[in-house]
Amino acid sequence: MLTSICGINWGDEGKGRMVDLLSRDFDVVCRYQGGNNAGHTVINDKGKFILNLLPSGILREEVVNVLGCGMVIDIKHLCEEMERLRAAGIKITPDNLKISDKAIITMPYNVLQDVMEEDRLTKATGKPYGSTRRGIAPVYADKYMKKAFRMGELLNLSLLYKRLPDIVAWKNMTIKAYGFDPVKVDDMIKYFETYGKPLQEYIIDTGIYLNKMNAEGKKIMFEAQLGALRDIDYGIVPYTSSSSTIAAYAPIGAGVPNLKLNNSIGIMKAYSSCVGAGPFTCEYFGKKAERLRELGGEYGAATGRPRRVGPFDVVASKYGIMCQGADEIALTKLDILDDYEEIEICTHYELNGKILDDFPFTDVLDDCKPVFEKVKGWHCDISKCRTADELPKEALDYIRLLEKLCNCKIKYVSVGAERNACIVMPD
Ligand code: GDP
Ligand code: MG
Repeated sequence: MLTSICGINWGDEGKGRMVDLLSRDFDVVCRYQGGNNAGHTVINDKGKFILNLLPSGILREEVVNVLGCGMVIDIKHLCEEMERLRAAGIKITPDNLKISDKAIITMPYNVLQDVMEEDRLTKATGKPYGSTRRGIAPVYADKYMKKAFRMGELLNLSLLYKRLPDIVAWKNMTIKAYGFDPVKVDDMIKYFETYGKPLQEYIIDTGIYLNKMNAEGKKIMFEAQLGALRDIDYGIVPYTSSSSTIAAYAPIGAGVPNLKLNNSIGIMKAYSSCVGAGPFTCEYFGKKAERLRELGGEYGAATGRPRRVGPFDVVASKYGIMCQGADEIALTKLDILDDYEEIEICTHYELNGKILDDFPFTDVLDDCKPVFEKVKGWHCDISKCRTADELPKEALDYIRLLEKLCNCKIKYVSVGAERNACIVMPD
């Protein structure tokens, strides 16, 4: 049984929070793309955690966690994240954490490249990509240039060190062109010795492992980082991540391209948020934005940056649901709308006097204007509700309206950040 948990919007939909809850019914949780640019906040009886690289299943002792081959892994960051969690009492051993030998290693020079290019773009155009500056785009570029190092190489460091000098020389051609000091081979060796060696015992062929688990009838969950609109192919390029955030990619990025997903659960937010640059048609500005940002606590988990916010966007969400092939939806952060007497929804875009139903090509988005409609709010605290019949009529109406507009079943409704603050909707 293979289930994918994916983001319908621009990311930060509450995927980590839903994985933490739904993983109670799973044996394995696997991240299949992205790196430590992820920021998944999870709050449960063990405390509050921000996970960047580790799957959100790590907080359940009985769940095995996998970092798949589609990921890029900053090994320093991973060692530090593991230490941070261990200090909070979380058990992490080779029994409950497995790292793909085919996953890519993010190098310190990739982080430098990311910073150099964002700063250059800011100076040259005033329009940086809004990167998290954690080296993700440069390391994926290296992967496709076949110049990156893979986790499995950490098991044979003498071979890796033979390959290292030429790659460093090649990389320094770029770094020098930006006017920065070249990287030293010795420093890279120190990086592998300090942060690579402690990870050796976790590295396996995760494809063989996951196939075995599947054959034994174990339940496997794939956890996405970011949402459909940040996908490298289907998102708002270039304001996207550099990997595939799409559910259909999960078996490939996990190491089991031979297996098919049984279902895809889309995590969709009750309003919109978008961190970083790029077109965001339904965006609120001024006081309206400030109010929603404060109510929703919309500041990046990985970066602390204030997130841009807006009302629920039907056009973008329908597109996200299609890209993710979502069978059902978990609607998150509904409680954030408690304060509103009236709630806006962006139902359409308008382009040069024409109404658009379908999400257009990225360039066109710049000229699109949002069309808002208002519905009645519930204007009371729903954070204690645990069943659908405890919800006020207006909240139920809002859920049913989104379901109808997006043509997808809303199965879960989250009304708080804590593990159990969630309602399972009746069929
Ligand atoms: P992710 O990257 O998709 O895992 O999402 P983030 O963790 O970056 O952002 C979601 C934020 O909303 C986190 O701070 C969560 O603790 C919080 N959160 C998730 N679901 C809910 C909810 O239903 N209500 C409230 N109030 N907060 C939520
Ligand atoms: Mg996040």
